[in-house]
Parts: sequence; structure tokens; C-alpha cells
Amino acid sequence: MSSEKTPIPAGSNFIRAIIEKDLSQNKYATKKWAGSPGDAAHQDTGVVDVAKIRTRFPPEPNGYLHIGHAKSIFLNFGLARDFDGICHLRFDDTNPEKESQEYVDSISDAVKWLGFGWDNTSETNLYFASNYFDLMYRAAESLIETGHAYVDEQSADEMRINRGTLTEAGKDSPYRSRSVADNLARFREMRDGKHADGSMVLRAKIDMASPNINMRDPAIYRVRRAHHHNTGDQWCIYPMYTFAHPIEDALERITHSICTLEFEDQRPFYDWLLERLAEAGLLAHPLPKQYEFARLNLTYVVLSKRKLIQLVEEKHVSGWDDPRLPTLAGARRRGYTPAGFKLFTDRIGVSKADSWIEYSILEDCMREVLNTDAERRIAVLDPIKLVIDNYPLDSDGKSQSEDCFAPNHPLKPELGKRTVQLTKELWIEREDFMETPSKGFFRLTPGGMVRLRYGYVVKCTGCEKDADGNVTVVHCEYLPDTKSGTPGSDSVKVKGNIHWVSVAHAYEAEVRLYDRLFKEAHPGEGDRDFLADINQDSVKVIKTQLELSLKDAKAEESFQFERHGYFVADKKDSVAGKPVFNRTVTLRDAWQK
Ligand code: ATP
Ligand code: MG
Repeated sequence: MSSEKTPIPAGSNFIRAIIEKDLSQNKYATKKWAGSPGDAAHQDTGVVDVAKIRTRFPPEPNGYLHIGHAKSIFLNFGLARDFDGICHLRFDDTNPEKESQEYVDSISDAVKWLGFGWDNTSETNLYFASNYFDLMYRAAESLIETGHAYVDEQSADEMRINRGTLTEAGKDSPYRSRSVADNLARFREMRDGKHADGSMVLRAKIDMASPNINMRDPAIYRVRRAHHHNTGDQWCIYPMYTFAHPIEDALERITHSICTLEFEDQRPFYDWLLERLAEAGLLAHPLPKQYEFARLNLTYVVLSKRKLIQLVEEKHVSGWDDPRLPTLAGARRRGYTPAGFKLFTDRIGVSKADSWIEYSILEDCMREVLNTDAERRIAVLDPIKLVIDNYPLDSDGKSQSEDCFAPNHPLKPELGKRTVQLTKELWIEREDFMETPSKGFFRLTPGGMVRLRYGYVVKCTGCEKDADGNVTVVHCEYLPDTKSGTPGSDSVKVKGNIHWVSVAHAYEAEVRLYDRLFKEAHPGEGDRDFLADINQDSVKVIKTQLELSLKDAKAEESFQFERHGYFVADKKDSVAGKPVFNRTVTLRDAWQK
């Protein structure tokens, strides 16, 4: 056999490589699954699991999902899809304090929006960790019974001091050698509400001298009188995350438990705990294994739930779905698409080393996807009137109107062309006219010629101004033989090509021009308050003149506004026949220096 390593194919990553190896070794070939989460006895009543692997996405319902979570969603659900497996959506709701139904709903919506679900052929894989409180409690008693846990009554300060440091071993608690019967009685008292919050904890009994501080008798249950959104006041003790999470994985028969790097030091406890519970017969082999990958860090945004909550609660933004926020609800309103996120996660890959990803990479991905997917439309964002003085009037004195044909998508001729009306009075962009042109300006200027896109070549004859010298109307004359798409139309060569909308056929609409919420790549870096880095010009609301067909845009429909960028009909503020548009991303990156 060759000793050469098999190269990992493109689009692959170290986690895929692990799964491929596990499957080739039939590691899970006899794993049983009873159709629902449960202990060893329950799973033993089942059949060999049809899911080749099981992964899970385990958000805590204490906030909205953000772009970092999208990476985890594509990874976990994507792996399950690619390897004939199943990915569970599990609400990790074992912490009673900050969780709510609003968060549960928004998380479910975001997962579905990205194209994933939990209704599989034979079962529905949507779980709440709080439904396992009974089993977690039994697991804790089992640890006590096997001599692997004890109730500690040291104060929090004593516990911290006796934990030791990176260079110094910890000291055993004076309660560490209590009898099993004593511990069991105390723990039941904790459960029965006989002890005050914070007065004692249940700790795993491992090794106070371990070089890994997480193995120095970690706390696994605490007394906390708090109302839980699912279990109400049934419990006054709650499991610690590091105890609950491995058990949740095992009860759901997860094979590959994928988490972010900060949990690497917890892996020894993860394995220790599950081994002990398997020895006691509570959990079945094969046990889940934890694998860590680098979390997504993105410039120009904050991805910490605490900071996102602060931005929302202190009203620096309009809500969780503010289009400037990196929440998935915000990104969706901004016009970012699931396909764009997919491209992004593929492009950045999965690695074992923390790094920063440039926000412009995400924007490029959205541009790429929208360039392919979005139809083109014409929009005048900063309108000024252009009058074609020699354009014919009808006998009743009104301007004639004629059809011009604009392609819906230059890369997809099969999408055809649509009709836009040309009339004597048009809206054009203010910046497409200059009375005294700067060098290299090839658009409208007195005496100069441009093509009205999909229409005629016009020659500028001058402008009108108000008392302050601001240009109010631009005048021109058209060259009748130059209409786009007619024979000989290009006999007159011009350098400029500008877009326009007929005044009589325009839809006056509100458009929001969004920019980055933070002006610094690393908000709050050093000792700066991240709020001080907020970009005060991150949104501009403007009145625009759009081609009439945009009046019928449906909520969440995306378009390229020619020469401007990609825009989406806002999901929240649009009403039928009166959509408002959000700028998703410009055509080019304006932040690149
Ligand atoms: P916290 O634990 O502070 O509430 P969190 O961001 O870890 O916040 P969770 O709800 O625990 O939020 O996250 C659910 C899953 O998403 C976890 O498996 C976590 O590892 C993953 N995740 C969270 N943030 C990122 C990120 N920036 N990049 C990749 N994955 C992430
Ligand atoms: Mg977390």
C-alpha cells in the first residue's frame, strides 16, 4: 500500500474526510435508533438507523441567528444531506433565563429560509433540549451512584480559588469525599427546593490536578429558581451547558457533533461524561464525537449575540430585521439570498484555524448570485427632468409615446424583452448632466451627444436653472434615425449611454440606500466602545423615479437596477402595487481603497 495521503478533493474539508473514514470503517453500521431521542434502553427497542450519520444544529433560543450561524447550518445540514444522514434542529434551551418563543420562531424561519428543514421521510427531527431534563436528572443521579459526582457547598469564591490556575493544581473541596448516600440525599434536596439559589452545586468528580482546568471537577447542576419557557416552574435546578450538551447529543444518537473551536478544551469532559454514562448502562454505544471548526469572524459587523441585543434594545437599529444587521432576518430584508450564503460558505470553507473574513467577500458572493438570478430594470435614483424639444406631439398637444425594448437579462436572452415607453419628458440621473464637463465626462453636456439606452441618440442643447443656479431641467433634441435596434441606428457614434424613465410612465418610489453599519473593520477593537464605530450614514431614504413595471414587484423580488446595483422589494414595508426597495449591494465595491 502506498503511504501517500489521499488528497482531499475540492469542496471538501477535514470534517468530510472524518465522516468518509468513519463510514468506510462501518463505525455506525449497527447503531440502533428507536425513532425518537432516548436512553440506551429506549434505543435498544429500535432498528438499525437508516440515517448514515446524524448531525445537529443546536441554537440557544436567546437571540436571532446571524451570518455566523449560517455557516454552521450549511455545514451541519449540508453534511447530513451529502452523506445520506439526518440533521436535527435542536433548541438548546436548558438555560431558563434569556429564552423565548419569539427566538424559537425566528430561528425556525431562518433555517427554513436557507433551504433546510426537519421533516424527514420517517420522522420529524425538531427537538427541545428541555424535554430531556428528566433524563439529565437521571444521568446526574447515575454519576452520583457510581461515585463520579458530589454536592459541593463551597461558596463561589472558594470554588474559584480552589480551582487553581494554569500553572498550579487545584485543591480538593472539603465536600469531595461525602458518601454516595449523602450526595444523593443532598442532590434530591436541591431538586426539591430545600436550598437557596447558589448555595450548592453538583460537581463531577474527576481530577483537581488535571492540566485541563475544565476537568477539575466541573459544576454540572446548579440551583436556580427561574421560570422556563417550556417547563415552567417544574424545576429549580438546571444542568450546566457542558453537562447538558453531550447528553443531548447522545440521546439523539448524533454521530458527529460539530461545534466551534472554543469548545476544544471541553472535549475531554464531553468524552469522559458520555463514557461514564455508557458504563452505567444509561447511554448506548457508539457515542457521539465532538469536532471543532473555526467560527466565522466577519469584518465590519458584530456577531456577538450580546452586542446584537444591545444594538436592538438601545434602538441603534430599527429591530432584529433591520437590513443593516448581520442577522439572517436582516440579511433577508436586505436582499441577501440563500444561494448567496451557500456560495459564501463554500468559498470560505471550513478550517481549524480562526481567521477574519472580509465583508467584501460576502458582498461579492451576493453580487455573483444576483447577477445571474436578478432581472434588469431601470431606476432613476436622483431624478432631474430631460425634455426632448423636437419630439413630436399628438394632435391633442400631448407627447407621443413609443415602445422601446429593454432586455430582461443580458445573460439570459430567453427571458425576453419588455416594453418601456419613451416620451418627450424623461427623468434622468442628475449626475448624467454637467453644464461644464470635467475631463473624461462623456454624458450630457451642452453640445454633446449621448444615447438614451434602448432609445435614440440625443444632442444636449442647454438647461434651465432656478434662482440659486441649480439646474432644474435639461434640454435636448433627438436624432430620429438612431433608435436602438433599427437599421443604421449606430451611424452616429457616441461615448455615453444613459438610462431614463418616461415622466408620464414612472413609478415614484421610496428606496433605501444601505451602507455598512460600522465604519471600522473591527468594531470595538482595543478599548473602543463598539457603538462609537457605528457609521452614522448607514442609511439614506430617497424618492426615486422607477420604470412602471416595478410597481408590480412582489415582496422579496430582487432586481438589478441598471448602473446602480441590486435592489429588493422590502418584505415588510411593501404593499401590493406600492413596493419600496432596499439596496442589497452596489454593482462594484465602493469600500475598496
Ligand atoms: P451564545 O452561546 O453566546 O449564546 P452562539 O453564537 O454560540 O451564542 P448558539 O445559539 O449557541 O449561539 O449557536 C448555535 C450554533 O451555531 C453553535 O453550534 C455554534 O457553534 C454555531 N455558531 C455560532 N456562532 C458562529 C459563528 N460565528 N460561526 C460559525 N458557527 C457559529
Ligand atoms: Mg453557544
